Amino acid sequence: MKETSLIPSVDRVLKTPALLALADGFGRAAVVQATRETLDGLRLAWREGTTPDVSDVAIARAVEETCHRRSAVSLKPVFNLTGTVLHTNLGRAPLAEAAIDAMAAAARSASNLEYDLARGKRGERDSPIAERLKRLTGAEAALVVNNNAAAVLLLLNTLGQRKEVPVSRGELIEIGGAFRMPDIMARAGCRLVEVGTTNRTHLHDFAEVMGPRTACLLKVHTSNYAVQGFTAEVPEPELAKLAHEHGLPFAVDLGSGTLVDLSRWGLPREPTVTETLAGGADLVTFSGDKLLGGPQAGLIVGRADLIKRLAKNPMKRAMRADKMTLAALDATLALYENPDTLPRTLPALRLLTRPPEDIAAQAERLKDPLELALGDDFVVETTTRKSQIGSGALPVESLESAGLAIRAARSGRGADARLRQLTDRLRAFPRPVIGAVHDGVLRLDLRCLDDEAGFIGQLAELNTS
Ligand SMILES: *Cc1c(COP(=O)(O)O)cnc(C)c1O
Repeated sequence: MKETSLIPSVDRVLKTPALLALADGFGRAAVVQATRETLDGLRLAWREGTTPDVSDVAIARAVEETCHRRSAVSLKPVFNLTGTVLHTNLGRAPLAEAAIDAMAAAARSASNLEYDLARGKRGERDSPIAERLKRLTGAEAALVVNNNAAAVLLLLNTLGQRKEVPVSRGELIEIGGAFRMPDIMARAGCRLVEVGTTNRTHLHDFAEVMGPRTACLLKVHTSNYAVQGFTAEVPEPELAKLAHEHGLPFAVDLGSGTLVDLSRWGLPREPTVTETLAGGADLVTFSGDKLLGGPQAGLIVGRADLIKRLAKNPMKRAMRADKMTLAALDATLALYENPDTLPRTLPALRLLTRPPEDIAAQAERLKDPLELALGDDFVVETTTRKSQIGSGALPVESLESAGLAIRAARSGRGADARLRQLTDRLRAFPRPVIGAVHDGVLRLDLRCLDDEAGFIGQLAELNTS
């Protein structure tokens, strides 16, 4: 007898009570497909020389597991214990409750997205946010696109297509792989004119390349690195003056722009959008989901005539933000109308300003439950940590923090494998736990641990299987 003949037919399996019940829940089509795949898998396993369990119970369990996996939403909450607060791979800023509510409301029903309720006519989708940004930054006008990379692309394409844009060699940034200033320039149709050197660029370097083909001057905030030592860069007011002498606009890509001076809450200083405008910038671009603490978006503020040109570029239509983004952004910016309460109302700022003593106390509370759940194979210690703001904001500054360090109880052979196994299991939790492994130690920075009870509740998972 051929072994594979022991594997039941799809039709027979589908008639078992367990699969009939699954079909009620997940739909017949999904169950049929999962059953086919399960049986194919068994046949393959057999051909490869193993003896899989082909009982009805085992098959039903496999089909159910597949159906559950397929119906689950793949984007899910995780515990970000990496120590990087605005972590690009983990979704950057957590949104304010007000922003989440606004987003849900916009998603649920029709809205006045592009409808002027006062006049009963078509309206502009960006205009409520533009009004807020004007008030909050002092700019003449504003525009919203999907992210700051799009904002820079739109700006360069509108002002600089078939023209030259001089940029300091010290500012030809790469933000996470795909966003490289020289590449964006090329795609925007501009010719990049590199000016100065990596560490030093002077005003005369810019002055020498100004010509009839120059479109604008651009300063890029070196948000994810710092040039230190023997350095020189041209202050913004001087670049603005040079651009204006030639009748050209001066633009600044701030990256992680902030609307308020963060040093009032003990955070490192970042230039604000208002200061940058006051320093002579005609256009400023920045992200919605970095220090601003809102949804992914690119914001452009500045001179009304230039914003109008950007708005008319057909590319703007391809980059326009959707209603959920606009709802969340509007609600986030509304919180800035009362800046004194921001550390309470804006989660990103709340996490960034958490007192180190609070985080250390949390580490003390979690040490024993974690050690208990991990068993004899691991030791847990409380440690001080240094959190990063993340997303290219203030790369050399860090925030005093605290956390837990987990290492294998016995060093030597197998210790690394055991630790890797542990991090795999933590990532497989219903709400995955993401830490950082270095030199055989798994470090959990607790600055962003908002749901302590949820974290402890999950530790029981370590004792199963
Ligand atoms: C982050 C950043 C960008 C890209 O912004 P996204 O919102 O991630 O698209 C561009 N320029 C600078 C200086 C940045 O820091």
